[in-house]
Amino acid sequence: KLHNTILELKGNIRVFCRVRPLLPDDGAGTETAVVSYPASMESQDRGIELIQSGQKYPFTFDKVFTHETSQQDVFVEISQLVQSALDGYKVCIFAYGQTGSGKTYTMMGMPEAPEKKGLIPRSLEQIFQTSQLLQAQGWKYKMQSMLEIYNETIRDLLSVNRSSALDLVRSENCGVGKQYAIKHDANGNTHVSDLTIVDVCSIKEVSSLLQQAAQSRSVGKTQMNEHSSRSHFVFTLRISGVNENTEQQVQGVLNLIDLAGSERLSRSGATGDRLKETQAINKSLSCLSDVIFALAKKEDHVPFRNSKLTYLLQPCLGGDSKTLMFVNISPDPSSFGESICSLRFAARVN
Ligand code: ADP
Ligand code: MG
Repeated sequence: KLHNTILELKGNIRVFCRVRPLLPDDGAGTETAVVSYPASMESQDRGIELIQSGQKYPFTFDKVFTHETSQQDVFVEISQLVQSALDGYKVCIFAYGQTGSGKTYTMMGMPEAPEKKGLIPRSLEQIFQTSQLLQAQGWKYKMQSMLEIYNETIRDLLSVNRSSALDLVRSENCGVGKQYAIKHDANGNTHVSDLTIVDVCSIKEVSSLLQQAAQSRSVGKTQMNEHSSRSHFVFTLRISGVNENTEQQVQGVLNLIDLAGSERLSRSGATGDRLKETQAINKSLSCLSDVIFALAKKEDHVPFRNSKLTYLLQPCLGGDSKTLMFVNISPDPSSFGESICSLRFAARVN
């Protein structure tokens, strides 16, 4: 009930904050800064406070998950949103935060332990399970899954034609001569030319695609300067359902996005490719913020075209679509500055 109210008030945009636990490598710095959760009723589960040298920086979000919140407990809070993609809504779930703050843990999790599975595998399980149940009521589903990475350049993670791992590093695009032009049709469907699209019918099929995509990413990783932290990972599941009894149709889309690390340029000064890369990341993240901000404020002009990411997701961000942003936070005192930046970013779109 509360969720519905928030959704109405905010044009279907919600922001959840998640703090990861301290890790053994944390705390190397001399700075002392802590994360705390105000206990007042008003801010319960919704408030977070960063404290440094007695100075408090309070923030409020739709939900705050502490370092103790399990993957299952996080999923419980988003399962309805995932469900609405099956009902024909367009849904985007983002993970935003500096590298090492827990974005990939939140989205993918650790596949080796079932309780550590993240939102992507849990969402897919739920969608395939529910769609099977709905088949009894005459519903037939066709799901298309595609995986892409952005860094102001589209990369096709499912392209089997890519001749070698080095292509990923050398060529601007994966696949020689491919343009990956983004087009939206009158029905609000997005087409990316030359992109590999695979129909999936089961959790098994989609899992193997995810694995293939993960491999495509990690192959280039060492050569590409922690490639996976520096590119946006976009997983899209298109769902089209038709009821054979009533001929009713639904077209839903679920986008799950592990964003590039939000850290600012280090003072040591990046140069050359690294500088260009960081500028591209900063630009696309601030474009995303601008778009969500404009949508939340119901402004007439929404600057979708200012980045590849927002242009690709345009039909899934406006209208009656639903957006959820996770802002991931590291409790490491040395991350204090980046944490404040992330919380401010999220507070702006919230
Ligand atoms: P990012 O994708 O933002 O760079 P990761 O998801 O890789 O960050 O997380 C960094 C480290 O913290 C990883 O070792 C990950 O396993 C761990 N981690 C992140 N979030 C959690 C969590 N909620 N519980 C336990 N470990 C976590
Ligand atoms: Mg990551």
